[in-house]
Amino acid sequence: MRLKIQVTGIVQGVGFRPFIYRIAVRNGVFGYVKNRADAGVEILLEGQEQAIQRFLRDLKEKKPPLAQIHHIVTLKLRGKNEYTEFVIENSSKEAELSGSITPPDIAICDDCLRELRDPNDPRFEYFFITCTNCGPRFTIIEKLPYDRENTTMRAFPMCGFCLNEYKTPLNRRFHAQTVACPQCGPHVFLADGSGKVLTEKDPIREAGKLLSEGHIIAVKGYGGFHVAASTTEPRPLRRLRKVKHRSQKPFAVMARSLEAAKTFADVSESQALLMTSYSRPIVLLNKSRQYYLSDLVAPKLHNIGVMLPYTGLHYMLFDEIEDASFVMTSANPPNQPITRDNDEALKTLNGTVDFFLFHDRQIAQRCDDSVVRTQNGNKVFIRRSRGYAPAPIKLKRRAKNCVLGLGGELNNTSCILNADKVFISQHIGDVENVETRAFLDQATNHLIRLTNSNIKTVACDLHPKFTTTKLAQQWAEENNWQLIQVQHHYAHIAALMIEHNVEKIVGICCDGYGYGPEGEAWGGEILLCTDEAFGFERVAHLERQPLIGGDLATHYPLRMVAGILSDNVELENWLLNNKQHFPHGTEEIQTVLQQLERKEKGVWTTSCGRVLDAISAVLGICYERTYEGEPSMKLESIAMKGKDVLRLKPIMVGDTLDTTQMLQDVFENKGKHSKADLAYSAHAYLARGLTALAIEKASENNVKTVGFSGGVACNEILTVNMGRIVKASGLRFLVHADVPPGDGGLSFGQAVASGFFHS
Ligand SMILES: [Zn+2]
Ligand SMILES: [Zn+2]
Repeated sequence: MRLKIQVTGIVQGVGFRPFIYRIAVRNGVFGYVKNRADAGVEILLEGQEQAIQRFLRDLKEKKPPLAQIHHIVTLKLRGKNEYTEFVIENSSKEAELSGSITPPDIAICDDCLRELRDPNDPRFEYFFITCTNCGPRFTIIEKLPYDRENTTMRAFPMCGFCLNEYKTPLNRRFHAQTVACPQCGPHVFLADGSGKVLTEKDPIREAGKLLSEGHIIAVKGYGGFHVAASTTEPRPLRRLRKVKHRSQKPFAVMARSLEAAKTFADVSESQALLMTSYSRPIVLLNKSRQYYLSDLVAPKLHNIGVMLPYTGLHYMLFDEIEDASFVMTSANPPNQPITRDNDEALKTLNGTVDFFLFHDRQIAQRCDDSVVRTQNGNKVFIRRSRGYAPAPIKLKRRAKNCVLGLGGELNNTSCILNADKVFISQHIGDVENVETRAFLDQATNHLIRLTNSNIKTVACDLHPKFTTTKLAQQWAEENNWQLIQVQHHYAHIAALMIEHNVEKIVGICCDGYGYGPEGEAWGGEILLCTDEAFGFERVAHLERQPLIGGDLATHYPLRMVAGILSDNVELENWLLNNKQHFPHGTEEIQTVLQQLERKEKGVWTTSCGRVLDAISAVLGICYERTYEGEPSMKLESIAMKGKDVLRLKPIMVGDTLDTTQMLQDVFENKGKHSKADLAYSAHAYLARGLTALAIEKASENNVKTVGFSGGVACNEILTVNMGRIVKASGLRFLVHADVPPGDGGLSFGQAVASGFFHS
């Protein structure tokens, strides 16, 4: 019998060909296996029918742990048998199938870690130890098929020893494209702040000591540079905050081990599983009672982002010091992509860091660390990037057209809907300036090539001024693609529908800002959506509130308070008592009071994020937003210790949930209750009010499912409370599982809304 088999999925860069070779030899069949340029694998089998059947069973049941098989297409061939053995053939340039992809970067495996520590192993203490089961993938690939010459490992020809392992079928590095050793592979070196190379024998451990002593070091990793520093010494942290212009934004840390993380944070079982998974994301952990890291690491937050080492280099940094953790934050100039190249690092980090820990392997694709938190033990993506991108999210439906979604403006990603799979790009960032726009362009085109996708439609936001909208218009014109604009909050809810394969939903979508159909500023919306039509019905929303001073109200939430409480007789005095929190003091308050007079003519918003900001400012928790989400994140951190003392009853005016009286109640109860209790009570009010409206609308429209999406869905108190109330009413409650609820998931929502609901 002769059989040609094509396998699609994640089958390159995961030890798939060696696996095929082994099961072919074991079952006594001849032929070949080879990688194809469409990221799939092609197999030719010759042998007895029974042997081939056994081979096919092994293929399905015994695949390598990192492989994902999506489809197996078999074709019986005529003609005589030609092969007298089974071989791994050179890759072919053929690329007719689409939708396969190379895997994400994978954390160092246990076998490699053991060898790293074994004095008798040739890769003893070699920072770039990898095998077919681990190492960088996505970040080293320039083009397909996944062969060494198509990766940035091309610059390091294998030595005899490595080549021998590469060619030995039973070796763990059989056909591992990243195989390298101290003789032939990348080298690591330490340089001072000006880039002058220091001749250290043991540069990594020296860097660890320097960090422990209080120096700041740029460390080159898989997908870009980190800036590392001590987590306990205030001096370098203060310096880092100053030079990075990040007065408050939390820094992520890397703990030397799970046990070390537990010395300063609480780690649940589900969080431990995430932290030790091969994706190794940053996991937001609650600070423990024993928390002893500097307050400068994650100021005024109840939690801290912690990841475990994911490369040999990371492990070695901790070898000769006692520190349980280091700050490990992405190195990037403000609003620009993560720093990738050595030259670029020297230019952009000059003056910020004391030393550079460089290596001489180039990074093909930038990729930031992923960030997740858990709610009731479920994973919630704050950022889906390294370790996950570009692995697809598999859907229960198939799209007829291939759609590209370009996302929105902040925390952006792009994505491709191809048949029953969606490929979301790595984190791109805030697409406002040329560098990030160029990154979006490059990353998107790379993803199109990697998946061999034949795009027919491009989807974007409704906002006419977004960079991504303009780019979508340009690409639609150049390539003759259909252009579909998708309303922001509808995209979030459509994402939820497709992720869970539901036909009808009442979706609660809360975030900071999204462009409404008539250009309104939306952000606290309840939408009725069905899969019968593209679009939605806005069935309810939060009360409209004025943005006093427009965008300034987003940065200085006291302006939101002024707008919401404008009828309060105590307002003026209270603002004057808080004049130190206005950049221009009394003068600015006079302007604000004048703006209140004319507020009808200004911009109004139904944003839930702005209401949370206002509560934060009323309670004196946060007066200035120095990073996205800061006032509401700090509010949630305080509320974590509170209880629902006010038990405010939701006030509805028609289909609008009041927020004025709620803020008034919080304002009047200051001093009577703790900040924590008032903060929690405000959360409880919003959860009760929004779900009451959603449940009512679900019942009116015979819908059995209520969902929650938008950036505010990262808030644990709101999500948990809303889930409890919705389930108690007998309805199903949905949140995202594999797609970020924030704007990192917007491109997904745009693509699936266009691909499945648009006629
Ligand atoms: Zn390994
Ligand atoms: Zn070697």
